[in-house]
Amino acid sequence: MTRMFVPGPVDVAPEVLQAMTKPMLPHRSKEYEEIHRRAAEKAQKLFYTQYRVFLGTHSGSGMQEAGVRNFASKDILCCTNGAFSERWYQCAVANGKQTNRLDAEWGKAILPDQLRDALKKKHYEAITIVHNETSTGVENPVEELCKVLKEVSPDTIIMVDAVSSLGGVKVEMDAWGIDFLLTSSQKCLALPPGLSLAGTSDRALKKAESVENRGWYFDLLLMEKHRLKDSTPMTPVIPLIYALDFQLDRIFAEGLDARFARHAAMSQKVYAWALANGLQPFPEDNCRSKTVVTIKNEKKWVIGDLNKFLLQRGMRIANGYGAIKDVTFRIATMGETSLKDVDNLLAGLQDFMKQ
Ligand SMILES: *Cc1c(COP(=O)(O)O)cnc(C)c1O
Repeated sequence: MTRMFVPGPVDVAPEVLQAMTKPMLPHRSKEYEEIHRRAAEKAQKLFYTQYRVFLGTHSGSGMQEAGVRNFASKDILCCTNGAFSERWYQCAVANGKQTNRLDAEWGKAILPDQLRDALKKKHYEAITIVHNETSTGVENPVEELCKVLKEVSPDTIIMVDAVSSLGGVKVEMDAWGIDFLLTSSQKCLALPPGLSLAGTSDRALKKAESVENRGWYFDLLLMEKHRLKDSTPMTPVIPLIYALDFQLDRIFAEGLDARFARHAAMSQKVYAWALANGLQPFPEDNCRSKTVVTIKNEKKWVIGDLNKFLLQRGMRIANGYGAIKDVTFRIATMGETSLKDVDNLLAGLQDFMKQ
């Protein structure tokens, strides 16, 4: 099997794939509803929330769209400092919202003072923040940003994309005051792609009641109506829900804190290796991601060639992404990857450099 140091889709454990092969059930059956409820309840623990977690039959970007459609009639502020936060901005614009942006330079975090200034200039119904920018490898200080929102604009609905961090880094939805926290299956949760999860606060759903044109597929009030019956308005992605139910038990068996520590240690190892070899991380040093290490490609490696070399040893890394595609490369340290896998990768990179 290839070990993919790619920020999604990541490797899936064989027993998790196996869990998907159980026979289908009618989604309006008691048997299915029981599994759906169990998986969604377990997910609450992962999200550190007392509120509901929606299970969506679409990738995480769909939840970005759900957020902007449900939680603002008009004014949204999008914090942007990378390709995925830029996508969320585009998504808000494409849905006809009056969208403002708060930019930080790529490689830098969105800073609390910057946000405070923006909130003093205009009132926003909702804000979008990407916790872990998978393009630049920057982790934004979401807890601190939430504090600023509570202080300056307490009624603003806080939406956070933790697609490439949730399950690998501790994100405490309720304690931090996040209203809508979304993630995808194919990153730190180490499931196949196609499922998304979104923790949603009561006050966010209350806000949705005042918003028109929420659409149908992404109408969270309709989702909620069906969730109360342990189901979804449309046919759910049943095999992935089987896998989620199974994988969450594996995640809790490892222990959440142990899992977070493993992710931090893996990325730490890669940063240390990079710096020791004269390779500079793309992000500033106070905001570096624990799940995806983005490195400046100053040695001008052809990543396709590097991957050909690594694939002989059953490993692969990732290109840069978005506007920095050609000037960076990325090493993801997420999901099932172990410290030993990281050692193997670094040994491989070391040999590549000797060539
Ligand atoms: C991968 C990713 C997305 C897109 O998720 P999909 O599941 O592919 O829709 C969004 N945001 C971030 C931060 C990501 O890493």
